[in-house]
Amino acid sequence: MAGLFKSAINQLNKVSGIMDLKYDELEILRKPDRVIEVSLPVLMDSGHIKVFTGYRVQYNNSRGPYKGGIRFHPQVNLDEVKTLAFWMTIKCAVADIPYGGGKGGVAVDTKNLSQGELERLTRAYTRGFADFIGPDKDIPAPDVYTNPQIMAWLMDEYSHIKGANTPAVVTGKPVEIGGSLGRGTATSLGGFYVFEEVLAKLKMTKNKVRVAVQGFGNVGMNFAMIAYAAGYKIAAVSDSKGGIYDEKGLNLDEVLIHKQKTGSVVDFKNAKNITNEKLLELPVEILVPSALENVIDETNAGRIKAKVILELANGPVAELAEPKLNKNGVLIVPDVLANSGGVIVSYFEWVQNLRQYYWEEEKVQGRLKEQIGKAFKKVWQTMEIQGNRNMRDAAYMVAVGRLVEALRIRGI
Ligand code: NAD
Repeated sequence: MAGLFKSAINQLNKVSGIMDLKYDELEILRKPDRVIEVSLPVLMDSGHIKVFTGYRVQYNNSRGPYKGGIRFHPQVNLDEVKTLAFWMTIKCAVADIPYGGGKGGVAVDTKNLSQGELERLTRAYTRGFADFIGPDKDIPAPDVYTNPQIMAWLMDEYSHIKGANTPAVVTGKPVEIGGSLGRGTATSLGGFYVFEEVLAKLKMTKNKVRVAVQGFGNVGMNFAMIAYAAGYKIAAVSDSKGGIYDEKGLNLDEVLIHKQKTGSVVDFKNAKNITNEKLLELPVEILVPSALENVIDETNAGRIKAKVILELANGPVAELAEPKLNKNGVLIVPDVLANSGGVIVSYFEWVQNLRQYYWEEEKVQGRLKEQIGKAFKKVWQTMEIQGNRNMRDAAYMVAVGRLVEALRIRGI
């Protein structure tokens, strides 16, 4: 996906113009601090060795240790990992948590790996990056096709290497070994808090809102379930195999059972099968892309009918789609705000690990609501001062302001 990083930096340059910053002041933020590529030899069940390539990009740590997930997906490449690491830097600054940004990944189709192969790959990844990660250096977390079990293997391997139990090296762990209550659903719950704030600002009432969610993994599925339980009509959902649509609203409890039985949401009774492309163009009020980047580009932007796009995935709206959507009055709630609930609760998990003192789930959720609510208010106010409806510009202005301040104070 060449060009993703360039697009991300274009957004940085755009806000630096609005903020009237000197070109030099942002020069450090235009490049990652460190890019690491490691060969990962893994013994496959067949008895053969396969060598995978692992990436870790440490983008910027002026506000705290590098922080960001690890992605296992066939399309992972360095341009993408760099971009995701840059977005983490912005996201942690918007959320105002004491972290910089980083990201990791391996180009692999986990659906073709056995559990044993997945574990050996994860341990190889950990050994490959053991000197670069750590509670005060760089703290990974789950992302696409990585989960709490994978984080547990990472934590275990790292603890063996260092000869000390080190839960704070990674977040998104199972609760039995130091994970935080509420981390599994944090990205979605944070997204839901932002969703309700936006609806209140736009004076949109619950009974008039239909929602379409692309991606039925950790983020998309949990968001759909939370919104459904709160009484919102979920008209469409999808996974990598395709989507389903019922304009009257899906019974999500049954969709979940169907997905667990068949491995996909497709072919659910009482709903129409649709493609992932069609889902984006449905006549709904709120569109929630929760899978991969660049799914809305200049070719389909003009056909989007939703009034609001809540970006729970990272980078679902391509650079060239944005002006068209803005012109058509679509409000884009940017990823760096909308999906920051995950990293906010990762921060809480890290704090709990360092203190070895664990919080009740209500406390985690209450603090998440407070932290993401503050971020939302700051971004919304900044947008109002600009006198437009560009929440992405506003979020970047908040983040870049904080990053530049940290860089100035620390010096070069
Ligand atoms: P996941 O692996 O749990 O789920 C991914 C979902 O996307 C699956 O339902 C999969 O079937 C679907 N999918 C894959 N390819 C697709 C395609 N081509 N079209 C449509 N659907 C497709 O991953 P996740 O953790 O839910 O992450 C989803 C997005 O959210 C990513 O962009 C990720 O970077 C972002 N995100 C995740 C977190 C987190 O805490 N997990 C935090 C912030 C942002």
